[in-house]
Amino acid sequence: MRYKDGKWERLIPMPADVMEVALVCRSCGHKNPPKTKSCKKCGAEFVWSNDESTRPKVEFGLLHPEDLPFATNLPKGLKLLWMQTDHRIKEAEGWLPESEWMRYLQGQPPNQVVSSSELFTFEPRFGIAIGERGTTQEGMLYQAKFVRLKDDVALWAEVNGVQMTEKGFLRFGGEGKAATYEVIHPLPPIAQFNVKRFKVVLLTPAWFSGGWQPKDGDWSKIFNAPVRLIGAAIPRAQRFGGFDVAKKIPKPMRSFVPAGAVYFFEADEPITFADDFAFTETPDEVRQQNGGANAWAQIGLGVALIGLW
Ligand SMILES: [Zn+2]
Repeated sequence: MRYKDGKWERLIPMPADVMEVALVCRSCGHKNPPKTKSCKKCGAEFVWSNDESTRPKVEFGLLHPEDLPFATNLPKGLKLLWMQTDHRIKEAEGWLPESEWMRYLQGQPPNQVVSSSELFTFEPRFGIAIGERGTTQEGMLYQAKFVRLKDDVALWAEVNGVQMTEKGFLRFGGEGKAATYEVIHPLPPIAQFNVKRFKVVLLTPAWFSGGWQPKDGDWSKIFNAPVRLIGAAIPRAQRFGGFDVAKKIPKPMRSFVPAGAVYFFEADEPITFADDFAFTETPDEVRQQNGGANAWAQIGLGVALIGLW
């Protein structure tokens, strides 16, 4: 989240169907293709500072499934994602601010996005392993990548069933450093549509038994209603393991669909979404340890926005 114009604004990872289609020159208004270094018409150089008034204005477009006049070897029923344009296009990067969500979820490209450099920087730090006597261990040098948030930037988390004072301190992150927190409420619910043609936009990673989809390709159990997958924009998988604190062993590495992935669906009847709708499955062994519950949905995987296409 970032503090802007007197209030906290949520940001979501850039959905994978958002494309950069043009860089509009501030001097002459010419529309240049993405990645252009200087205006092809007037020659003005493009400067990518954090000052919005000096950067070229970026125009965005949206991909969507399209009937195309050629054959593909996609699985039956799936369509290629497409966009009509004269230029080459580029995947948009960064974060989509809350002020743009409604426009995007109603099927319009965003007007503006926020770059990661406006929110945080990465800091590499070297560390050494310490032996039992408090001396350094030879050959045990490591480098870790830390995230430093910029001023007026915070992490947003949603929790259930926890009593918290309005403001306070907590131990946070892998090293248990002190952090301040503030309870923000009520945030308006994430927009939902009661529709037959919709897209699911992942805000947190998801896990599926068949990699990017349920093992049998049957999405109906996720929605409790018959639906057809028409297309998908899925960035490269993320791999997570972690450490099982209870058993004191590393957890197995698994592949996850990353936040920002977009799935396009159709249904014969309008779909309604339960408040606890989650777009993820849980591995069988983890499910068994949790009384058959979709446990990874409960810890925050598969959080999604629903939009139109
Ligand atoms: Zn120009």
